[in-house]
Amino acid sequence: MIGILALQGAYEAHAKALTSLGAEAKLIRRPDQLHGLDGLILPGGESTTFLRHLERDGFFAVLYEFVRQTPTFGTCAGVILLAKEVHNPSQASLGALDITVERNAYGRQLDSTILVTPTELPGGPLEMIFIRAPRITRTGPVVQTLATRDVHLEGKQVRSPILIRQGHLLAATFHPELSADTRIHQFFLQMVAKRQALTSALPAESL
Ligand code: GLN
Repeated sequence: MIGILALQGAYEAHAKALTSLGAEAKLIRRPDQLHGLDGLILPGGESTTFLRHLERDGFFAVLYEFVRQTPTFGTCAGVILLAKEVHNPSQASLGALDITVERNAYGRQLDSTILVTPTELPGGPLEMIFIRAPRITRTGPVVQTLATRDVHLEGKQVRSPILIRQGHLLAATFHPELSADTRIHQFFLQMVAKRQALTSALPAESL
């Protein structure tokens, strides 16, 4: 059972991708609905609008604990919410993912685009739809980069991670739910299943 934060943004397409893969999808609009989920998707949208909604009912504090324990997949604005540090401008975030992101950082020509890019996932290059995407400018030592994108910014060629994983957290700066290819959602469901196998093998007192 995977929750999708449905306060705003691109949540319906995530639900479709999950159900096509045999998972159950539940739209989450209140903090008490997080209870009992096996995983959560933080969709794209506008991160400042998410933050405004999360100020209600202690939602931010509950989500802050949740993402530290339960597999969570952030896409685009969802990555901004998970990041440790946010620039352009700096704003509050859940801080669970050890990265720095810059919002709307690709410049006007590059910020909404479709690329077909190789990743560490099996099955060949993947279509990636970027919509006013954030750019990951720093990754911490435990962050695994699964795909990158090269861009020319201010006369320099820079390589930025666009798909990353840190333990139970997955993050894509593009919108995988808008492509027909469901490999990234499938990868997330595998992360959830592995986590379940691990936690059910451990004695309750060690959790
Ligand atoms: N530009 C948005 C933000 O900064 C993110 C865009 C998206 O999620 N597609 O929050």
